[in-house]
Amino acid sequence: MLSVTPIPAFSDNYIWLLRQDTSQAVCVVDPGDATPVIEWLEREGLELGTVLITHHHHDHTGGLAELIKRYSPRVIGPDNPEIDGIDERVGDGDEVRVMGRLFEVLALPGHTLDHIGFFTPGIPPLLFSGDVLFSAGCGRLFEGTPAQMHESLSRLESLPEDTLVFAAHEYTLANLAFARAADPDNADIEAAEAECQRARELDRPTLPTTLGRERRINPFLRCASAGVRQAASAHGDTDNDLSTFTTLRAWKDGF
Ligand code: ZN
Ligand code: FE
Repeated sequence: MLSVTPIPAFSDNYIWLLRQDTSQAVCVVDPGDATPVIEWLEREGLELGTVLITHHHHDHTGGLAELIKRYSPRVIGPDNPEIDGIDERVGDGDEVRVMGRLFEVLALPGHTLDHIGFFTPGIPPLLFSGDVLFSAGCGRLFEGTPAQMHESLSRLESLPEDTLVFAAHEYTLANLAFARAADPDNADIEAAEAECQRARELDRPTLPTTLGRERRINPFLRCASAGVRQAASAHGDTDNDLSTFTTLRAWKDGF
């Protein structure tokens, strides 16, 4: 059986660790820091077989050099020469077999231009969404345009309801505070806030989330909803889904 565990890093990153109970070799996603990964592997007596990278930001790649030196894993990531140490550079539509599952690579530009996601169908389907899709939020636009990010989120939205979404940051509570403002009549947001508050008090991650849940609580996936459009209209254009998304993203940046 495949299990996925968060290794907390820095103040709010998660390095997701994939493990099959039949193998000592595990996979980690976006190791921004090598130290917590090495500690985890040593404590559990595991080896690092594979690394997946979603984009070039340091908080996702900073541990790569040391992990390569120590474990020589197979490293799969975006086709971006700025990232040292990737030996399989992949892009949209490529498929990679990792931990016994076939992952589809999705190009998800917006937060950065090189951003990719890894999706595997199955029971349940899994998505590693990096800094594109968070619970109740989405990544900031550092390199891409609102149109690119909107398109990337639309692609993720078409994945199955029960897809488990493993995002790279614990931003959920802050995102929900914005979601409440952006979608004020949505009772699911209030319920999610209470639930996530409890999880954080117990020092538990609010992730993974599911795509079905994100369709209900994530304002960035709800640009067509009348309530979101109405709330966003005080902050800019809301003529269509893209302009509503653009307005929401700019509003959130200053929130
Ligand atoms: Zn990032
Ligand atoms: Fe990040």
